[in-house]
Amino acid sequence: MSDATVIVGFIVVLLVGIGLAVGSFLNVVIYRVPLGLSIVRPGSACPGCQTPIATRDNIPVLSWLLLKGRCRVCREPISGRYPLVELLNLAVWLALAWWAWNSDGLIWLLPLLLVLGSAGIALFFIDLEHHRLPDAIVLPLYPVTVAGLVLAGAMSGRWAVGSALVGGAVWLGVIGGLWLVTGGRGMGFGDVKLAPVLGVTLGWVGTSAAAVGLLMAFGTGAVVGLALMAVRRAGRKSALPFGPFLLIGAAVGLWAGEAIGSAYLNVVGL
Ligand SMILES: [Zn+2]
Repeated sequence: MSDATVIVGFIVVLLVGIGLAVGSFLNVVIYRVPLGLSIVRPGSACPGCQTPIATRDNIPVLSWLLLKGRCRVCREPISGRYPLVELLNLAVWLALAWWAWNSDGLIWLLPLLLVLGSAGIALFFIDLEHHRLPDAIVLPLYPVTVAGLVLAGAMSGRWAVGSALVGGAVWLGVIGGLWLVTGGRGMGFGDVKLAPVLGVTLGWVGTSAAAVGLLMAFGTGAVVGLALMAVRRAGRKSALPFGPFLLIGAAVGLWAGEAIGSAYLNVVGL
């Protein structure tokens, strides 16, 4: 094995371990933050019998599988969301690392992307269940995003302040504008507060990433909304939270926005 193989292998093992552990912590965030509970104390307990969860029963994914999805003490079922969130965080982290590794001059954007990816997973599930995006998660993303972009710029020498500001302004303008026009029925104020964070970060990657991300948010929102209406699980009036679509759109914009943008410009001959 070459030195490079060893280093890459070490980084992957580190990403897997920390990615699963952070995913485990996200489960605590998703359950407690909407209820206004501390995410630090007390330690995790079974919602059924209140027995504190022993360390050996708190290993990401593995414990849930070994316990066959039930509490060791009272046999109450433990939601499959727990291992799902852990595996999802791991998958998102590996995908982001792969993307940053293969994107010119953007490897130092990875720390910010990992934070936004994990926060995005927490917001995704909280918005689905409670129809809101808590300030306790969204507002800290503002200083974190600025710090992450400054780190990326300083380490790589690639600064994209202009397109980042354009991305943030467009996302805020479109989402905030819709919020104003629909009187808050189309989307909530939480969506308005989250939009600039996603827009600025995508804009740092490129204006195409920011544009494609925003279009994909509305595209996936429309497709899922129509599909739900078609199977009559949702009436025209039943509110679908928009946060998950903002996050899915942002993920697509990051992953494929620049490629889609240049393909489009080729087709229209610019
Ligand atoms: Zn129990």
